[in-house]
Formats: sequence, C-alpha cells, structure tokens
Amino acid sequence: MYGHEFTKDFGIANIGQTSCILIVEDEEIIQEMLAVALQEQGYKVVTIADGQSAVEYLESFEQDTEGFCCDLIILDLMLPGISGLDICHLLRYQGNPVPILILSARSSEVERILGLEVGADDYMSKPFSMRELVARCRALLRRQRISTSHQTAIFKFKEVILNTQERCVLVRGQQVNLSPKEYRLLELFMSSSQRVWSREQLLDTIWGLDYVGDSKTVDVHIRWLREKLELDPSNPEYLVTIRGFGYRFG
Ligand code: CA
Repeated sequence: MYGHEFTKDFGIANIGQTSCILIVEDEEIIQEMLAVALQEQGYKVVTIADGQSAVEYLESFEQDTEGFCCDLIILDLMLPGISGLDICHLLRYQGNPVPILILSARSSEVERILGLEVGADDYMSKPFSMRELVARCRALLRRQRISTSHQTAIFKFKEVILNTQERCVLVRGQQVNLSPKEYRLLELFMSSSQRVWSREQLLDTIWGLDYVGDSKTVDVHIRWLREKLELDPSNPEYLVTIRGFGYRFG
C-alpha cells in the first residue's frame, strides 16, 4: 500500500551500516514498515510515536558532550502532542545539524516549502515508495559523511592525486582545473574507491534531491572529467562505465 519493497538487493553496496536513524511516526503500520526496511539495510533504528516523547528523547542527549542522538531523523509532520514542524524548528534553533527527512500526508507546495524552511533536509509525501525513501536516507547520510570528512584527506590512485584541503587535483604531476561539480564528483569517487555508483545516486549526492534534470547530466560531467584525467578518454582506466548501472572509480 505504501509501495514498500522489502527487496534486499538494492544493487549497491551498503555503506554507513551502523548509522542510527530515529523514526518519529505515530501511524503504527508505517512506523513498523520503516523500521523493518531500514533495519534490513543494516541501520540501527529507534522509533518514537509522539512529539512530546521525541522532544524528550532528543533533549536527553543535550547533556551529552558530543550532543549525539542519531545520524538521521525521519519525522512525520502530523504527530500527537508536538508537531513535526515544531520539532524540526526546535532542533535547528538549538543548532542541531542532524539531517531531517520530513514525511507528510499533506503534500501541497506550501507544506513542502515550510518543511524545508524550518531546516529539514528532504521531504516525502505519503504514500511513498519505501525503496525511494531508503535511497534518500542513504543519500542524506552520505552527504553528511562527506561534509564532515573534509578536513585534510589526500586521495591517491595511480597517477591521480586529490588534496581536499587545498582542493587541488594533480594528474600525472600536472595540476588540472576542475569545475566545482567535476571536483565533487572526483572527490566522491576517490573517497569511495571501487564503489559502483548509479547515475541516480550520483545525481542525488552531487546535484541534490531537488535537482530536476535527468541522469544524462551525470554522463556529460563524467565525459568532461575523463577528458581531464584519462590518457585515452575512450578507453578509461579511472572512470569506468558499469554497463546498465553507472560508474566506478579505478
Ligand atoms: Ca501522523
């Protein structure tokens, strides 16, 4: 009924399997479906059914020096007690940067804008596809990991070196100029070497979920990147095409 597909094979490697996801949802069936689907993907799940308990749960972590509560919150809007929007607003007001994906039965544009303006990172309206929800959760968790792992990494593979601190790329000893999107693509590939990325995953991660273009955008950027990295762009050794799926680095 909510298009949930408990398929284990999502065709991609599960990364961040130990991430903890907090589900705040009062509809028992949806809460259960979410929990099962996310646990199947290897995530740790905490479920809460009303707004007041969610706030208490989140505030119980404030004493914690790290302020850690979870890596992602799936937040229903219409909750008994305190609404999802208020919870979202409160978390951002307190400076909590945890990624928030809002779920709502109300899908008008106003709601959508409102949800994002109070600091939510993504929004899905019910009924939703469980497969899409899992993919979006994964994208949010990945984006967070990328943004927090920026410090001083230097990635090297064969003749390509990427320095995240100086934001520069050397290919066969020569510095190459990359556009911001090309750079982010390369950084993503090099920080997850050997991982196969689908075009959709690359779009979600680099262009964001709100991007309205299609996956050909990815192919175009890969082509440009190949021209800058590869000795023979038509026979790439770095940005390898995985037929019918996407790309892999190395
Ligand atoms: Ca509800």
